[in-house]
Amino acid sequence: MLRSNLRAIREHILEIAMTSVTKGELVIRRLESLFGNINFDDDYWREQNEPFWLIAETILSQNTSSTNSRAAFRNLFSTYQTMEAVSLADVQDIERAIKQAGLYEAKARSIRAVAREVIETYEGNTWSFIGGSYQSARERLQKVSGVGPKTADVVLVFARDFDIIPVDTHVFRVSRRIGLAPQKGGYDAVKMALEDEIPSGKRKFAHLALIRLGREICVARGPRHWMCPLTDLCDYYKETSRGGN
Ligand code: SF4
Repeated sequence: MLRSNLRAIREHILEIAMTSVTKGELVIRRLESLFGNINFDDDYWREQNEPFWLIAETILSQNTSSTNSRAAFRNLFSTYQTMEAVSLADVQDIERAIKQAGLYEAKARSIRAVAREVIETYEGNTWSFIGGSYQSARERLQKVSGVGPKTADVVLVFARDFDIIPVDTHVFRVSRRIGLAPQKGGYDAVKMALEDEIPSGKRKFAHLALIRLGREICVARGPRHWMCPLTDLCDYYKETSRGGN
């Protein structure tokens, strides 16, 4: 009698615990099991305590592969070494240094504009340029031509540790397929939906894990469902496979 009562209480507690867990939390738990810790490769700017290089690399990463943007960044960094040198450089020379990243004319102008803004308005202190509240820093960054909400958010999640989820092309696609984000609506609608679903403290991991899932498993064409631990949670899988594999 006592044992059956205890089992009933345990099942009830388990049920409550399960119903209070959001789909986003379940997704993150599975991705933690799949990927373990994911580190963002950002030693280069931390070693120098200079977030200008993080901003530059984030601009270079727009609409290109990570291989191309990293190569362009390495070339930019080895050519100029300091933000001051970038601010004084001829824009055509910056274009040549970052050509591999694509859209290099616009990206060269943006990177130099950031360097000039920091030097002319913030006495060369990039931490001041990205300082203050999340909203004020985000608005300041976006005043520079070529810096949109995603670029601003990536800079702020890594340099300032704000508890947010930047939404890149992989995060857009994967979160919509799983059903964590609305099918319609732009950047901010998807970001807000994800931040409602993913608990505080897990959002930076969510950003990195959804990108990795999108690159390796939930690719744009022909998602590899058989490699994915989310099939029972995923709206797209349920709609397209009718439970098959
Ligand atoms: S089940 Fe398929 S569609 Fe859904 S997240 Fe995984 S790979 Fe993508």
